[in-house]
Amino acid sequence: MASYDYDLFVIGGGSGGVRAGRLTAAMGKRVAIAEEHRFGGTCVIRGCVPKKLFVYASQFSEHFEDAAGYGWTVGETSFDWPTLIANKDREIARLEGIYRGGLERAGAAIIESRVVLEDAHTVRILAEDRTVTADTILVAVGGHSQRHPALPGAELCITSSEAFNLPELPKAIAIEGGGYIAVEFANIFHGLGVETTLIYRGKEILSRFDMDLRRALHREMEKKGIRIVCQAVAHGVKRCEGGRLDLVLSTGEALRVDQVMLAIGRTPNTDGLGLEKAGVETGPVGEIIVDAHSRTNVPNIYAIGDVTNRLQLTPVAIHEAMCFVDTVFRGRPTAPDLDCVATAVFSQPEIGTVGLSEDDAGKRFAELEVYLAIFRPMRHTLSGREEKMVMKLVVDAASRRVLGAHVLGPDAGEMAQLLAIPIKAGLTKDDFDRTMAVHPTAAEELVTMYTPSYRVRDGERVG
Ligand code: NDP
Repeated sequence: MASYDYDLFVIGGGSGGVRAGRLTAAMGKRVAIAEEHRFGGTCVIRGCVPKKLFVYASQFSEHFEDAAGYGWTVGETSFDWPTLIANKDREIARLEGIYRGGLERAGAAIIESRVVLEDAHTVRILAEDRTVTADTILVAVGGHSQRHPALPGAELCITSSEAFNLPELPKAIAIEGGGYIAVEFANIFHGLGVETTLIYRGKEILSRFDMDLRRALHREMEKKGIRIVCQAVAHGVKRCEGGRLDLVLSTGEALRVDQVMLAIGRTPNTDGLGLEKAGVETGPVGEIIVDAHSRTNVPNIYAIGDVTNRLQLTPVAIHEAMCFVDTVFRGRPTAPDLDCVATAVFSQPEIGTVGLSEDDAGKRFAELEVYLAIFRPMRHTLSGREEKMVMKLVVDAASRRVLGAHVLGPDAGEMAQLLAIPIKAGLTKDDFDRTMAVHPTAAEELVTMYTPSYRVRDGERVG
């Protein structure tokens, strides 16, 4: 049997790679993990974590406004962008230390360098100009924001990565895209006082979500003062005198802003990785093609997380990592279960969702019962804020199974996490009905919608 330097070489120190490396090293295996930037990957360094901190920062403007109805007088307020950036950077450095510390304690060798594959068992460490070999290689290199090379002036635009470290807060920003990142950042910038325009090519933002939530969020964002331009794309960006940017849309409209941010999806980081030398197959957007157990066409090379372009979500990458360790090192072949994954969009108001949208369920089930509640949450009564909450359950009329739960409003992400349990477990509407409400909460609506709002038969709304 060939002898290798390592049992496992992990390429990429993000959520998936670190979890796989740490668990395998803790089993006493010889593990090395390489990262070219910072441990923590997209989620910790330039994704979920700093984004959520920015969301919190941006919510204070509304909290200050809402306080008056509760009897508070808030004095003059001001916001300091450099303070937010510095505090965010400190928190990220702390988390990066935790990721690194976990690997070190487990006994993994940490390699701070870009590495490339030389063949199916050999990795070149570029910073040290040497090669090492491994029995199993796990590619967990993530993805990066698409840059839109076809857009004239694309080089003048930023992506979410740069948005986290702008030297100063723009006065006006235009954001292209209608997905998670575009919508979340539109709310963040607006909450921080930036004049914000969202430009989306489709008819309604957030194409992968339930239509009632999409429309309701669109309305609430516009009520706050965010401008949303649908069925339009950026046609060109130019620097004008004074350093601002002129953006021309496909509609002919011209906007003058300080930053243009592109949030049009993320691409797997496979360029120049040596995959072809190792014989690893990739797909149309450069994603590594894997089987149900995250194995590539090369038997000893596996891939997990965003680089496989399955579901680009941190908990999915972590789950795939744990399944990989079970499969390869614990003798328990385990395929990641990507069915019914709950997700949140940290817009304002927030979206939390799990399972099928009404439209998707209507294509798969003959008859649906739809339970829909649109109401003003209690916290907005005294504040006077005219913001509506939406709760929706999509139920298969034949089996009574709850197929999807969709929430728009405060804490919707927290609710989605808990709703994921009954929906994953295949519980029925009767189980929801038998559950006692927690009062007074907004979530109690989810167990007190006793009568269907309407039915959907063969994909068409009836009664
Ligand atoms: P998304 O796939 O969510 O959205 C991309 C958006 O860009 C879509 O609205 C898409 O339109 C639009 N688009 C794509 N190509 C073009 C183009 N050439 N011109 C104009 N518009 C275009 O990607 P994001 O970049 O927002 O986020 C990447 C991934 O990261 C997400 O899919 C998600 O998995 C993950 N993420 C998760 C978060 C969370 O869990 N809260 C937060 C942020 C990111 P269309 O809809 O018509 O295809």
